[in-house]
Amino acid sequence: MRAKRSKKYRKLMHQYELAFGFREPYQVLVDSNLLRAVHSFKMDLLPALERTLQGQVKPLLTKCSLAAIMANQPVNPRTNNQVRPDFLPPPTTLPLRHCSHNEDSTPIDEAECLLSLLSPLADVKRNKEHYILATADPPMPKESNSGQEAGRKRKRDPAVEEGFQAIRRAQALRRGARSIPGVPIVYVKRSVMILEPMSSPSEGIREGVEQDKFRVGLNKDAGKKAEGENRKKREVKKKEPNPLSVKKPKKRSTDEGGAKRKDVNRAEAREKNGDEPERATEDGEGAPKAKRRRRHHKGAKPTEGGEEPASIDIAED
Ligand SMILES: [Zn+2]
Repeated sequence: MRAKRSKKYRKLMHQYELAFGFREPYQVLVDSNLLRAVHSFKMDLLPALERTLQGQVKPLLTKCSLAAIMANQPVNPRTNNQVRPDFLPPPTTLPLRHCSHNEDSTPIDEAECLLSLLSPLADVKRNKEHYILATADPPMPKESNSGQEAGRKRKRDPAVEEGFQAIRRAQALRRGARSIPGVPIVYVKRSVMILEPMSSPSEGIREGVEQDKFRVGLNKDAGKKAEGENRKKREVKKKEPNPLSVKKPKKRSTDEGGAKRKDVNRAEAREKNGDEPERATEDGEGAPKAKRRRRHHKGAKPTEGGEEPASIDIAED
């Protein structure tokens, strides 16, 4: 199960590399909800991200995310600084990504900030910095009562209402990120860190890239394939006689004319050597072995009885 998933994720990241130019170490924009989830499920941020993304990662926290985290933190009376929450890793683990959205660079809404980094251009949605988004849902708000009373109370209780708002914002952030082509989304779902499948805008671009490659390489590949098949046939044919009698094996792959000539040579050689015709029938299986044998004896004199040299080799060693 675990191995299957990591294989799937490796393949997915490979597709992001090919279609969108992602490279390790992957830059991961981590949001406040992810940090809370990672902490509450007792995960280790860096190893968890690297396992999920199947590569080296460089997690980053935007200034606006930091502001959102610190917003409700109490002040330590002794130092007069805000207390860092337990779920916030030190800057050595999670460096700050400076972002400036206005003149006095006051922090803006976290989700808005992240979306503006994921797609900085106004006219076209493009993740040109190759960021990965790592996010999670905030915890479900706890309602104190059940039944009708709770339904009524929910509207009145600002904390609960705020909780549901936060969930909606988290969902809107993921929706927004999916609408930008080429944004891998890491998401903590019930204590498991997952990598979302490609969104349809991403998939659209990827398919376009693949098709372009296919179109460009079509003739080339077709030619190569045909050539490869011919070569295989030729090799099989060549095995028929004693392979030790073949000279200059290097030219065979590049020089077609030479290969033909060699075929003729070989035919002649076969006649000369008086190889048994039965050898030809074993060739399918014997082909790779024979090739190896030939390499061993490049410098050596051709020996009689083509079947033996391999064992002679071993004896000599
Ligand atoms: Zn920001």
